[in-house]
Amino acid sequence: MALSREQYDNIMLEYSRIRDEHRHELTRRRNLVYARIPEFRELESAVPSRAAQSLQELLGEESDAVNVRSKLQEDLEQLRLRREALLTGHGFPADYLEMTYACPHCHDTGYIDGQKCQCLRAREVRLLYDQSHLRELTAANNFSVLSTEFYQGEDLDRFRRAWQATWNFVNNFDSDYENLYFYGTVGTGKSFLSICAAKELIQSGHSVLYFSAAALFEKLSALAFNYQNKEEYRTFAEDLADVQLLIIDDLGTELASSFVSGQLFSIINERHLRRRSTIISTNLSLEDLRNRYSDRVCSRIISGYTACKLTGPDIRIIKKVRNNGANNKTK
Ligand SMILES: [Zn+2]
Repeated sequence: MALSREQYDNIMLEYSRIRDEHRHELTRRRNLVYARIPEFRELESAVPSRAAQSLQELLGEESDAVNVRSKLQEDLEQLRLRREALLTGHGFPADYLEMTYACPHCHDTGYIDGQKCQCLRAREVRLLYDQSHLRELTAANNFSVLSTEFYQGEDLDRFRRAWQATWNFVNNFDSDYENLYFYGTVGTGKSFLSICAAKELIQSGHSVLYFSAAALFEKLSALAFNYQNKEEYRTFAEDLADVQLLIIDDLGTELASSFVSGQLFSIINERHLRRRSTIISTNLSLEDLRNRYSDRVCSRIISGYTACKLTGPDIRIIKKVRNNGANNKTK
């Protein structure tokens, strides 16, 4: 899939809106400084007049260009230090009047040296794939609603370890390449933790794709077996390989076939080569995994994923029973 012209223009418009916002914000801060420190404005206007003076000197007949320039540099640096001292002396941070950016890497232009910035890729991914289900999911499942009330004993220890692993995964996402494998019985929080990670990373501007295994392989086979979709298949496979975080939820609930097994290996393998992180959640134990897919899938996961086992009662059922109970009481 590729962006339409209109989608691309909309993204660029969004960037220009963000830049405008930051410029306005800078103007607001500058006016505040002028109001609190009247002499700051004078100090600022000293910069162009000092530069103009140097230009005059350079145009003079017996000017020493090197000397004039180095004197100018020196004076400008002095002025900068005096401005900084004024700001900090009045309780402002030294960089209070520096321009700020939502993305420090591309300065909210979407490009670095002609190459797409990660923030532009994240916007493209959000637009290209209907992530509305992910938006709904992250609204209901995130670290702020985390609760351990449903776990006890060993189940609780396991949940805490998995939670810690997810937290570390998110916090070290930009520096460490890591993959997570959540496995265990139904309704023990595996998808919940995956979606918590997705929410945090989307918020920090990363590109995230989330699929249930059934939907993922259905989409792949629909594209792969339709000759007319060749280009679309190629781009989809490329996005699956390149997105910063890929989540495959409920692995093992799709229909088993050699096509699925082959696709799963190529996704996992390609992402590993590119050091792109993946989270897999499943009811399958590592033993089941080997039986269902192939040795090579299994060995990639064992060697490259942090495995977290989750056990306990089915939380979805407990919540349902509770909700029904509450509804009955209000009747
Ligand atoms: Zn950027």
